[in-house]
Amino acid sequence: PRLANQIAAGEVVERPASVVKELVENAIDAGSTRIEVELEAGGARLIRVRDDGSGIAEDDLPLALSRHATSKIASLEDLEGVASLGFRGEALASISSVSRLELVANVDDDPRSGWRVVAEGRQMEPRVSPAPHPRGTSVTVRDLFFNTPARRKFLRTEKTEYGHVEETFRRLALSRFDIAWVLRHNQKTVQQLPAGDDPARRERRIAALLGKGFLDNALHLDLAVGGLRLWGWVGLPTHSRAQADQQYFFVNGRVVRDRLVAHAIRQAYRDVLFHGRHPVFVLYLEVDPMVVDVNVHPTKHEVRFRDGRLVHDFLFSSLHRALAEARP
Ligand code: ADP
Ligand code: MG
Repeated sequence: PRLANQIAAGEVVERPASVVKELVENAIDAGSTRIEVELEAGGARLIRVRDDGSGIAEDDLPLALSRHATSKIASLEDLEGVASLGFRGEALASISSVSRLELVANVDDDPRSGWRVVAEGRQMEPRVSPAPHPRGTSVTVRDLFFNTPARRKFLRTEKTEYGHVEETFRRLALSRFDIAWVLRHNQKTVQQLPAGDDPARRERRIAALLGKGFLDNALHLDLAVGGLRLWGWVGLPTHSRAQADQQYFFVNGRVVRDRLVAHAIRQAYRDVLFHGRHPVFVLYLEVDPMVVDVNVHPTKHEVRFRDGRLVHDFLFSSLHRALAEARP
């Protein structure tokens, strides 16, 4: 099983950023309202994700580290839904097979209770020992790839790995305004984002994550037709140098990269005569599952709309209208 886990780890765990993504998605699934991500040496030395979610019960702690032990599939229908972010039950097993992993959790409101379990390269310490923790979970991943030198060799510089983590953090923090976030690197607080779904808080978060310049030159939009709603910000290409990578698109709360979506946005941009300009945007598409069937791949940021044409036309016409009105 150890080798199988290490092989599986190759699919889930590519670099520190992928560990952060899996751990944070678990924290989101656990209903957390506050998530803290802490790193040392770009994540190669230490990654810690701390949340205030449901926690994990004493008996379930060792289970959480074993493969295919997910608590998230209650029925076959669940497999087709997108209600929870992770449902393969192998992230923690895979990560622990290539690192020194510690899990501390508490399901109780009493901060004096809590339990801890550790695994080192999949050799699990059989005992669960008491460890006080506020309600929620902390997962600490040390020395990523310490036992798989070939993979460790593929890690880039601290700066590059940290850059990937920052990008992952940015996407996750943009996906949930109702969660408070903290990002720390090498004992320094890099981001501290309070929770809040009101427009002012949202804009403060956008500015903190994408730079103040982004909003100075962006159009806010919010349009709904039938079971579809599109809201967010689109950068207007006037003086600001557009950052090619500032393209964030979320479908029902999940970040998505999709050809159909990219095409609709590009076409709207081009039609309104922003020739040759790179669109920058943070857009949220909310889709009523009764109207359009959405399937988002758990790892690959892929989305499949049953009625792609409808979605494409909605995106194109919404953006086209908003951009045309904003054009001087
Ligand atoms: P999956 O998320 O696909 O179920 P994981 O390996 O990521 O598989 O996690 C295994 C299980 O551990 C989860 O199903 C969940 O029950 C538990 N778990 C992991 N992280 C947390 C967390 N932060 N809070 C509460 N439970 C968690
Ligand atoms: Mg998971």
